[in-house]
Amino acid sequence: MDKPLLKSCKACGIEISRYSPFCRNCGHPQGSNLAIGLLILFFIILLASYMAFTVYCAFHTESLTIP
Ligand SMILES: [Zn+2]
Repeated sequence: MDKPLLKSCKACGIEISRYSPFCRNCGHPQGSNLAIGLLILFFIILLASYMAFTVYCAFHTESLTIP
């Protein structure tokens, strides 16, 4: 059940980290889903921080209007 930490480069065959989106030897992109996952994670964090900021501003504005 253990996933190997190393995989072979599709272009040159050298062993690279399976988490690496590019081969460290030839720079060939490995077509990993990790890059897409990181992109989605980035957008989720961006959206979450935006929502948190919006909520914070709403509470802040409300507290200002009420003396
Ligand atoms: Zn390579």
